[in-house]
Amino acid sequence: MKTVDTLIHARWLITCEEENKILENHSLVVNDKKIMAILPTHEAQKNYTATHTENFPGHAIMPGLINAHTHLAMNYFRGLADDLALMDWLNNHIWPAEKKWVSHEFVYDASLFAMAEMIRSGTTCFNDMYFFPIATAEAVDIAGMRAHIGMTVIDFPTAWATTSEEYFALGMEFFEKYKNHDLVKATLAPHAPYTVCDKNLLTVKDIAEKYDLKINLHLHETRDEIAQSLTQYKMRPIQRLQQLGLMTSRLIAIHMTDINEEDLAIVAASHVSVVNCPESNMKLASGICPVIKFKNHGINIALGTDGAASNNDLNMIGEMRTAAFLAKLSNGNPESLPAKEILKHATLNGAKALGIDHLTGSLSLGKSADIIAIHLDEIETLPVYHPASQIVYAAGRHQVTDVWCRGKRLLKNRELMTLDEAALKVKARDWAKKIFVV
Ligand SMILES: [Zn+2]
Repeated sequence: MKTVDTLIHARWLITCEEENKILENHSLVVNDKKIMAILPTHEAQKNYTATHTENFPGHAIMPGLINAHTHLAMNYFRGLADDLALMDWLNNHIWPAEKKWVSHEFVYDASLFAMAEMIRSGTTCFNDMYFFPIATAEAVDIAGMRAHIGMTVIDFPTAWATTSEEYFALGMEFFEKYKNHDLVKATLAPHAPYTVCDKNLLTVKDIAEKYDLKINLHLHETRDEIAQSLTQYKMRPIQRLQQLGLMTSRLIAIHMTDINEEDLAIVAASHVSVVNCPESNMKLASGICPVIKFKNHGINIALGTDGAASNNDLNMIGEMRTAAFLAKLSNGNPESLPAKEILKHATLNGAKALGIDHLTGSLSLGKSADIIAIHLDEIETLPVYHPASQIVYAAGRHQVTDVWCRGKRLLKNRELMTLDEAALKVKARDWAKKIFVV
């Protein structure tokens, strides 16, 4: 008998590995923050004793969800301005509110609040793009999630920085401070082709190459963006990025609607990862990311919620359902994007996009114990013929009961273990009183 940290006995294990095998009555053996073994429960009971033993007879256990694109601190702007087109929403509502309210304190409070929402819906890792990255990283230290945090670059003054030099300097300050952190990783985050000039995009590229960092960019989000690029640069944004040398496997291209055949060929040849954010794209009526075309060209597709001001939640369970339905409808084919595959978009593919698939994204030996439990033995999801289908097509996020990140318990039977739910609600209400002054 070996003694280990944690034994998790489950009715179903959804591995989210390449073939996404689903195992019944199996157990996860967790030791030293990692998955040490996966084996039938009767064998696990014979061979291991554990400091903590968890029984999940009505649950599916799967890897923690990876939200591949979000703006955490925008949770405090949720519902502030809805039912508008992207540029009206940004120019007349979001950017003015950000200029007035965003600060280190705002980003810390709002990010912590957003992490509570994400943990409660089964997300263990997120890829954030916002301002004051050190504030977000400080919140990560409290919450215990895995985080990729952007060094944002945008060609106009914001509450965080005024000049391009200041954006890069503040970004590098964050990078230097967190470069050896266990859970936080810096990324470059030029906002979009229409808000960042060639010179700054080339600086982004140089920094990313020098320090081996990923680059996040909103790309081909709307038709207006492409029309504006054709007017200003005489080429489509993807062509422009290719000329600048940014279309490489470093790039995480967010949104990617309105893709023509030339765009597709460039994306396929460059091994860019794409992040599909269907709910934000639908709400802003931006367009549809052609995930099946990308898939047919072997392009890695991850899933993100975008910020809570354009979604309006950070619910990856709901996002999976929307992504699957939209792919089916837009392709006129119900076989497009089956449940087992969209589960990979929300896990393994997200890890691939972030360059951490050797660490997380599936239940595999040696990977980090980033694990969630979803209770399927409920009125809403019975009977369970196929657990993957129940999670994607029927379950609600409230059915996520338990969450571990790097072996640490973040949610236990729906209770947040690292965050104070009542205190987070008080702060959110207090900030809203200041922000929403009519
Ligand atoms: Zn976004």
